[in-house]
Amino acid sequence: MQTVLITGSNRGVGLEFCKQYAADGWQVIACSRFPAHSDMLNELAAAHPGRVRVHALDVGNHAQIDQLAQSLHGESIDLLINNAGIYTKSPAVFQGSDYEAWMQAFRINTLAPLKMAQVFAAQIAKSKKKTLVTISSMMGSLADNTSGGSIVYRSSKAAVNMVAKTLAIDLQPAGITSVIFHPGWVKTDMGGPKALITPTESVAGMRKVINGLTPADSGKFLAYDGRIVPW
Ligand code: NAP
Repeated sequence: MQTVLITGSNRGVGLEFCKQYAADGWQVIACSRFPAHSDMLNELAAAHPGRVRVHALDVGNHAQIDQLAQSLHGESIDLLINNAGIYTKSPAVFQGSDYEAWMQAFRINTLAPLKMAQVFAAQIAKSKKKTLVTISSMMGSLADNTSGGSIVYRSSKAAVNMVAKTLAIDLQPAGITSVIFHPGWVKTDMGGPKALITPTESVAGMRKVINGLTPADSGKFLAYDGRIVPW
């Protein structure tokens, strides 16, 4: 049985990953900041006793990441999905920037995926699938940026792209495949009701791509439907 660890699992894309991998028979380590308030996730865990386990994790809290790694010590992790993310509204650049909010966006969207990879690399390396997935965004693409705006979110996602691309090289000796996804514009709290696809479609697409990955794909920036996203 394969094991997936997912951050930001209580709603949106993360919850959908948990549902689909659970339905597919995987062991799901579902991380949420506030398990006591994660009703849909707790219902999923109750429907799959012992196979969907809910853990408390604020990805901005490095001590808590270390504690989680200790409690999962010895378990192989086939697939780590760094999904948790925040969208920070940016004022127009020349009207000033909220630098504290910018630091927080970097903490969650950029630093946390690296910290997770560092802490869990050995457990991923000893698994069968050895895959590290970073959920980024098309808004982190420099080539695609023709409309400007959202400077905080864009810069934090562009930076995490570099993190994951670098990890693809640095973790190659360990046999780990690191890929980056744009999940599409998805109908979640973040994507809003006007988004183009449902979480079901987004996650089904990404799972299909993940399933077909080979080490030769490491370092790619992919859309949920498998298309290459320009850097
Ligand atoms: P969402 O509905 O806003 O859900 C965000 C998830 O991240 C929630 O589970 C949230 O938990 C969690 N999270 C936020 N801060 C956290 C922290 N400090 N520690 C742990 N978990 C934290 O967003 P989504 O649409 O599912 O987005 C998932 C990923 O896709 C994100 O990385 C996002 O940037 C990316 N993305 C989304 C879209 C889109 O159209 N939706 C497009 C491109 C990229 P809480 O409930 O505790 O806040």
